Amino acid sequence: MVLTDLGNKLSKALSKFKSEDIINNEVFKTLLNDIGRALLAADVDLRMIGTLQKNIRANINLEETPPGTARRRLIEETVIDELKNLLDPGKKAWRPKKNKFNVVMFVGLQGAGKTTTCTKLALYYKDRKKYTVGVVCADTFRAGAHDQLQQNCAKVKVQFYGNRYETDPAKIAEEGLEVLKKAGCNLVIVDTSGRHKQESALFEEMTAIEDAVNPDETIFVMDSSIGKMAYDQAKAFHDVVKVGSVILTKLDGHAKGGGALSAVAATESPITFIGTGEQFDEMEEFDAGGFVRRILGRGDIKGLAKRIHEADIKDNQEELLKKIQQGKLTLRDMKEQFQNVLKLGPVNSILQMIPGFSNLGKEHGDESQKRIQRFLHIMDSMTNEELDGDLKFLKVESRCRRICRGSGLPPSVLKELEAMYKPLVEAGKKLKNMKLKPGGMPSNPADFASMLPPQVLKQIGGPAGMRQLMQKFQDGTMDAQKMQQMMKGMGMGGMGMGGKKMKVRRR
Ligand code: GDP
Ligand code: MG
Repeated sequence: MVLTDLGNKLSKALSKFKSEDIINNEVFKTLLNDIGRALLAADVDLRMIGTLQKNIRANINLEETPPGTARRRLIEETVIDELKNLLDPGKKAWRPKKNKFNVVMFVGLQGAGKTTTCTKLALYYKDRKKYTVGVVCADTFRAGAHDQLQQNCAKVKVQFYGNRYETDPAKIAEEGLEVLKKAGCNLVIVDTSGRHKQESALFEEMTAIEDAVNPDETIFVMDSSIGKMAYDQAKAFHDVVKVGSVILTKLDGHAKGGGALSAVAATESPITFIGTGEQFDEMEEFDAGGFVRRILGRGDIKGLAKRIHEADIKDNQEELLKKIQQGKLTLRDMKEQFQNVLKLGPVNSILQMIPGFSNLGKEHGDESQKRIQRFLHIMDSMTNEELDGDLKFLKVESRCRRICRGSGLPPSVLKELEAMYKPLVEAGKKLKNMKLKPGGMPSNPADFASMLPPQVLKQIGGPAGMRQLMQKFQDGTMDAQKMQQMMKGMGMGGMGMGGKKMKVRRR
């Protein structure tokens, strides 16, 4: 999880504040101090922290706000709003257009993550936005740059242009555009070289390439580990090239990320994406509001809905529910659900968008992802008959052996898959005679309670607890911890079944 430490500290400050019996000036002051300390530890500039505290104070007049829950809520919302403002550059970024030839140029210091991020962006526009993407290597400074990018492009299956024998990067860039345009690309990303520090040779090279390709957008890539110093670095690049937007990398590994984000926001450059790992799918769209909610563990329903929309997942939930009710759920249906989950991106990043799951930690998401991948692999080794029929074939040892051999996975994975399938079928039998509300929820809480395994029902406080829970679901005030407990109890610990996600869109 990105900025875990900052998120934890801020959440802790807020929950300490909310648990106070009386919200008076002193409690309010403590909250502001706690928030200030948390931001300072994340390397946020002291003056910016001062401004944030001043803004919160200016928005809250304790005497005028009604005491009790309303006061708590108002203060909390104001804090969240101001944290969002701290990270919000308040400017919209350029976006490519399908019906034209779009050129993007990357700039930044060596090691900032340009080449990796070019690849991530190429993958993003190819898979999620359906562009035909090409990437040009205009880095002749670093040995190995050509091969690195060529291999990256092969991995994410986008076109590549490079020229090992040419020493002028501006010339390669120009050639690249021509070749890739002819090859049908409508988005070309030009990777450039960097230097260890801001020096004139780098800036000259950057402007030469800029002149040669005349980019629609210049993206400045910056390593977030420099914290608040990002402000000066961003300014220096701004002075030389027309920086349109910024991508901050390595937010996964550094406590100083908060400082970098706020510093870049202060330069009024839109931050479009953040890098959250070395893998090519570990890049997230940046939206200050959603980001703040996520690090505070409140999820990001808007972001999740957008992902689901982009993944272009067929909404066949009604159909699926009918199948479950009729006891006709097949392994093929489950396979489709698993594929849907993976289409949304790394499970880890999806969990962070679901309220209450944000604090589960990266390991949890990674493990769920591996589990889903194992299920998919083992199902790939099944015949159509096996995927579409019932699970009786799992009793036939020779068949199980064949499937395991084909997938290279141990029999325990089959057992695990079966263990996941069975409760769904059981639940389906019970669902059969229930009246369902649109969206698939039984209208009678007792019906829903009867579907849950006894130990889970006990955990959430029996049928009475169930009733409360359903009310909360309906008002959108679901207790995140309980939801987590329930999911875990149902054997879906952090799995985030497709069905759950679909429900979010309806709300
Ligand atoms: P360039 O010199 O600017 O092209 O930087 P590279 O793309 O070659 O990246 C330098 C190093 O940073 C590589 O080891 C990358 O794997 C790593 N890197 C890039 N982005 C991220 C990120 O978001 N998170 C992490 N953890 N590592 C990253
Ligand atoms: Mg590079």
